Amino acid sequence: MTKIVESMDMTVAPPEKEPERQYYFIRKLQLWMEDKKRELGRPLTACVTTFGCQMNARDSEKILGILQMIGYEETDQEEADLVLYNTCTVRENANLKVYGHLGQLKRYKKKNPEMLTMLCGCMMQEQTVVDKIKTSYRNVDIIFGTHNIFKFAELLAMRVFDTSAKKRMIVDVWKDTDAIVEELPIERKYSFKSGVNIMFGCNNFCSYCIVPYVRGRERSREPEEIIREIRELVADGVVEIMLLGQNVNSYGKNLEHPVTFAQLLKQVDEIEGLQRIRFMTSHPKDLSDELIDVMAHSQKVCRQLHLPLQSGSSRLLKIMNRHYTKESYLELVAKIKKAMPDIALTTDIIVGFPGETEQDFKDTMDVIEKVQYDSAFTFIYSKRTGTPAAAMEDQVPEEVVKERFDRLLKRVQEISAEKTQAGGGVVEDVLVEDVNKQETGYVTGRTARNYLVHFPGDASLIGTIVPVRLCESKGFYYYGKQCEQ
Ligand code: SAM
Ligand code: SF4
Repeated sequence: MTKIVESMDMTVAPPEKEPERQYYFIRKLQLWMEDKKRELGRPLTACVTTFGCQMNARDSEKILGILQMIGYEETDQEEADLVLYNTCTVRENANLKVYGHLGQLKRYKKKNPEMLTMLCGCMMQEQTVVDKIKTSYRNVDIIFGTHNIFKFAELLAMRVFDTSAKKRMIVDVWKDTDAIVEELPIERKYSFKSGVNIMFGCNNFCSYCIVPYVRGRERSREPEEIIREIRELVADGVVEIMLLGQNVNSYGKNLEHPVTFAQLLKQVDEIEGLQRIRFMTSHPKDLSDELIDVMAHSQKVCRQLHLPLQSGSSRLLKIMNRHYTKESYLELVAKIKKAMPDIALTTDIIVGFPGETEQDFKDTMDVIEKVQYDSAFTFIYSKRTGTPAAAMEDQVPEEVVKERFDRLLKRVQEISAEKTQAGGGVVEDVLVEDVNKQETGYVTGRTARNYLVHFPGDASLIGTIVPVRLCESKGFYYYGKQCEQ
């Protein structure tokens, strides 16, 4: 890709076609960066901060890939020459965090008026947010949304080469898109593992959730593109991939030649050199027998499944528009456990959905007891304007929600600790991710079941999979000892 970018003809107008159009703007910015470097005696720096889920993390890697190709030096200091926040809006507190950072930025920008500030991601898809930024945070230079991340270089170029005295805030937010632009640079956070988008958007409209409104309708990537990307990642040293989609189980339904997620997984499983496959998120309503079968027969698909419950009450699940009941969820779990008795199950649970009664909550607690999750993300319901649930009367009082949330969290943590305790003593393969920052002489990795393990070792182990005896359980993680291979 570097060669293609460097050979772009800059004497003509930018191409109309993607991704060539973006290559053109990357090249234009590269030439500008060379001048800047000479002028300042250093490259410009860029700080990208990500809020939210794995999807956003992967989007930030795409932005960093473009920034790096332009010649920016990555930094984690928010006093950089370019600061970008990739935002999340799933819960209200995610929005509040971003406003906090924007307040700080005002001070940095006073010190360095040349500083460029950019906002993107889910929060920017909300008109009320963009309006608020336009009036209260005039220091922001560029706002774009979730559908046009691929246009990052073009938007940056618009700003950089704007010679007008009073530069305007650039706002480019699309309501939806069919476009999936492939073949743009990506800068991975980890050399040995990577997320891989298999689809974008969501069609499920769970009544509490803002994602379908800010990420648009479901669009699947062609399986050939996904396989090509994974092969390239493996050739570049990646041993573990995480297939990403809001509901991977509906992958491929809208492709010209439909492909099921299980069929895709089978193809990915056959990629030589790839050692571990994870995926998220799997909606319980359409997790197929075919998928369970592919998982059970694979040596590479990790024995871990994230299966969001949201609530254990069939009554609430109906109002949440989840399309399963407490009973059908438990039957599904039984089927999965029968096929893969060693599987680690994790989940998401919302407490305090409008109208949640003590009996509804008890149903959730009952499912917790029955499934015995290895871990669970527990959330307090957050009212998201524009979703059907936000208009529902009967919002649960804060103190009731808080009390239920504490009860749930306590039990979830107890079960998690019991499961960690029970799983101790055995030898499991661990993918080493990093040196342990707290304990000198230790490294940290994850088992296929996604348990964290700390054990003696050094940086040379990072990115390798080694057998480790899980000697001591510490609640949610283990201390271990590497075994002979
Ligand atoms: N697509 C995934 C699925 O269906 O499980 C989840 C995506 S969402 C980013 C992650 C989790 O956030 C959801 O599973 C849900 O538990 C939680 N969530 C979504 N909307 C929420 C809201 N309004 N309040 C609290 N938690 C919410
Ligand atoms: Fe939100 Fe439901 Fe879509 Fe998940 S499946 S992103 S919870 S609407």
